Order: sequence, then C-alpha cells, then structure tokens
Amino acid sequence: MISVLLLALLAVPVLAQVSGASAFEFTRQAVEFGPRPPGSPALQKTQAWIIAKLKSFGCEVTEGNFPAQTPTGPVAMKNILCRLKGSGPAARALVVSGHYDTKPSPNMRFVGANDAGSSTGLLLELARVSAKLPRKKDLWIVFYDGEEAFVNWSATDSLYGSRHLAREWATTGFLGRVEALINVDMIGDKDLNLLQDANSSPALVKLVWSIARELGYSKHFEDASTAMEDDHIPFRRLGVEAIDLIDFDYGPLNRYWHTERDTMDKLAPASFEVVGKVVMETLRRLDQR
Ligand SMILES: [Zn+2]
Repeated sequence: MISVLLLALLAVPVLAQVSGASAFEFTRQAVEFGPRPPGSPALQKTQAWIIAKLKSFGCEVTEGNFPAQTPTGPVAMKNILCRLKGSGPAARALVVSGHYDTKPSPNMRFVGANDAGSSTGLLLELARVSAKLPRKKDLWIVFYDGEEAFVNWSATDSLYGSRHLAREWATTGFLGRVEALINVDMIGDKDLNLLQDANSSPALVKLVWSIARELGYSKHFEDASTAMEDDHIPFRRLGVEAIDLIDFDYGPLNRYWHTERDTMDKLAPASFEVVGKVVMETLRRLDQR
C-alpha cells in the first residue's frame, strides 16, 4: 500500500505542481517593467519577456497582432497565445486566459501588481506547470492585450484583445472546438475572496466552487454572487462555456484598484497558489470529460 502511494506521488514530479511563490515571482518581474499600457515601450518589453518564457517552457507560441481603434487613436495590440497540444484524436480545446496590459494612467505611476500583474504571473506559472503534464485536449493559455478602457469603460472602449480573439476564432470556426474557457483577473490579493459571477456559465461556476470546496478553499470561494464584465464576455456572447475568476474587492472599499496603491506588497503567494491549484484541477477534470 505504501509503495503504491509512493509510486503515485513520484508519478507527479514536484515541478509539475503550481507554486504560488513561482507565480508571485513572475508577477514581480512583470511589475518591474513599470506601467504597461497598450502600445507602450514597457508593454513591448513585457511581451518579449512573456514570449521568451513561454517558449522556454515548451509552448507553441502565436502572436496575434491587431490594430485597435481606441478613443485616443489607433493602437497596435498583441494577444499572446501558448498552445500545448493534447494527445487525443479529436481537436477539442480548453482555454485559460487573462490580460497583461495595465490601465493607462495620466501620471504613469500605476504599476498594476494585481491588475494585471497577477494574471500575467499566474498564466505563466500555469504554462510552466502544464507543459510538463500529459493531456488529451489541446490547452491554450492566452494573454490578452487591451482589457482596460482608455477613457471610459464601454462596449467599444474595453476588452480589445478578447473581443478581437473571440471574433477571429468565430470566423475560423475554431470557437466551436472550445469546450471551456477559464479567465483569471486580480487573483493575487492577500485577502482573497472570489464571488460567483452571474455572467459566467452556471455549470462551470458549480464545478469550480465544488473543486475549491474539496481542496479546502471554501473561505476564499464565497457563496455570494456578483456580475462581472471581463474578458470572458466576448466568448460568452458567442455561446462559449466560460467563467471569470476575479476578486474585485481590493483593499478597503476597493481603494487599491486602478490606483498607485496596487503594488506587490498587497499580494501574497498563497493566493496565487489557491487559484492556481483550483484552475489546474478544473482543467484536469475538463480534460478527462
Ligand atoms: Zn483593471
């Protein structure tokens, strides 16, 4: 019995487990680039760094370049996609996504540790770990540009990267192969509390919350609900099963959100680990379905 257990443990290398410390470190490195609004030299450096990391993990990387029409003029944007091929015969796909741009701020002092350093860091960690694991279905890890509004959040001034990719995938027919999409945003807060998003697919919310309960993370996954507009919405509108995992309660009265207070000292590796483990287990179960 003991030897069987040992064998089972050895079968999953330690490196193939999500590490909150590693995700936190990737986030710290992203934040080091400074404010990262779309089209900025700092975001271009961030893009090169993300792409190099993904390639080093063994990802097949695609760069989705597109011109975005923003209220302040045209901006060249780039979605970054990592594909990890599945071994199964059917071309089914799972997607985990998040944004990597930061909100343009007039004084350029907003470094966005949680928004969107944390999604950048967690997605890199998920890519690092997932690349070492077997799977049946293709896994796409997607980094969106231009989630943030340039002026005021609206249907046309927000979600530039995800709106572009959803449209593109609908045009090519790839969207029909996507079985589920998990979006992460603002998941690094020391005080981690995720609410059930009413704009997400109810079945996915149920699955994720039950996995969180099994893993002993119920105190971070609350029963209360909210309704979020985030990068999952363009896909939901096109009928994709999708969920948004976001902790939109950042500091007292959300005062760290989109302010200079959104810095690394507000985040904790443990929070990345909680969300990372729940996402990995959800992907594992969806892969086996
Ligand atoms: Zn934001």
